[in-house]
Amino acid sequence: MSNVSMEQLISLCKRRGFIFQGSEIYGGLAGTWDYGPLGSELKRNIQNAWWNMFITGREDMFGVDAAILMNQNVWKASGHVAGFSDPLVECTKCKRRFRADHLENTEVCPECQGSLGEARQFNMMFKTTVGALEDEDATAYLRPETAQGMFVNFKNVVDSLHPKLPFGLGQIGKAFRNEIAPRDFIFRSREFEQMEIEYFVKEEDWQGRFADWMNAMYQWMDLVGIPRPSVHELEVAPDDLAHYSKRTVDFEFDFPFGRKELYGLAYRTNFDLNNHAEASKVPLYIVDDETSEKIVPHCIEPTFGVDRTILAVLASAYHEEGEGDDKRVVLKFRPSIAPYKLCVSPLLRNKPELMEKARVVYSGLKKLFGNVTWDDNGNIGKRYRRQDEIGTPYCITVDFDTLENDTVTVRDRDTATQDRVAIGDLEMFLKEKLQ
Ligand code: ATP
Repeated sequence: MSNVSMEQLISLCKRRGFIFQGSEIYGGLAGTWDYGPLGSELKRNIQNAWWNMFITGREDMFGVDAAILMNQNVWKASGHVAGFSDPLVECTKCKRRFRADHLENTEVCPECQGSLGEARQFNMMFKTTVGALEDEDATAYLRPETAQGMFVNFKNVVDSLHPKLPFGLGQIGKAFRNEIAPRDFIFRSREFEQMEIEYFVKEEDWQGRFADWMNAMYQWMDLVGIPRPSVHELEVAPDDLAHYSKRTVDFEFDFPFGRKELYGLAYRTNFDLNNHAEASKVPLYIVDDETSEKIVPHCIEPTFGVDRTILAVLASAYHEEGEGDDKRVVLKFRPSIAPYKLCVSPLLRNKPELMEKARVVYSGLKKLFGNVTWDDNGNIGKRYRRQDEIGTPYCITVDFDTLENDTVTVRDRDTATQDRVAIGDLEMFLKEKLQ
């Protein structure tokens, strides 16, 4: 279990500009969160790492970026209009609403002890109308998952890029679910982001490919710093499987509020392609290059929530060290995903020659490393604490020795040790460290 509480994480995220409540100055909007300057960097770094690992880093994967608004028939064929619902119960006394499957006792209100009404199915898709006419034909839904955007583009990709099996489509984007009870910060919200893959295989190959994707998902967790001992596989029991799935493994993470789903890996058979082919009357198949047979490939789906990744990464990175005045909070992010890679400071801000020299070092490093920050507030110890708390891997300080011999100190976030490095060697030194 993580050693940080949700209160600590939420407060750090707000105080240091990672994540804010959505529409906060108007009292918020339940189930929405806004990423601030540091949070959006962290999110972007995570999404780029995912794209590099699973799309551009492989020969058998293609990216897509489908529209959020989709023809309502997509969601009829996928089963979402009829079945994408959670059981909702309402308290007859306080009128609060709960997800029946999240309650231990479905008869008594956990808030006011009033009696709960009958459970009914509540569809979680956000409905809207497209165009000026508000008739039935104008109904559209905000996508509740990115997956369908890939199934409906299967033929377009096959016709335009002529991939051979096995191959996959990957997508990063927003998904919307009108969750009955959004909770646990960014863990369960109504607007969130997913990184999903639909990997198409011959039916007889599904087991081997499923195992490959389990490994790939662990490699991803290693890459972003989610420790394996905090992750637990849950083999979903046959009776609990979604209607389209023949096997699903959930990857659960020890969040500060308990062990909950982080990612999922599902074998979806050829359910989706068959359903869309039937409903749209457009044949969806691929010609096998060995046998020239037309086949409807089967599909393995690894799915990754972006926001749950961020929460798991934050909880894993959070450390408190030292005591009393020496106490520090450190976010030990992997350097590749840290919002700022480096911080440059002049030892004193009221010495023009130090400021000038530090500015030169800063702009040189910014050109080389991109996201480099500047800090000349307060004393050097306070600056280190501030950078530790936002996870900046290295702080570079320009002091009086720099003016004499062109060297700077480089301070390591995790060990708090300092190295003296010549400015001319900084690029090599830091490139190695930031890998
Ligand atoms: P849960 O059982 O927690 O509601 P789910 O099984 O419905 O999740 P999936 O439909 O498998 O979730 O969605 C794929 C991924 O999208 C999840 O593994 C999770 O990372 C993310 N996700 C799903 N719902 C939410 C949400 N409301 N807020 C944030 N992330 C979500």
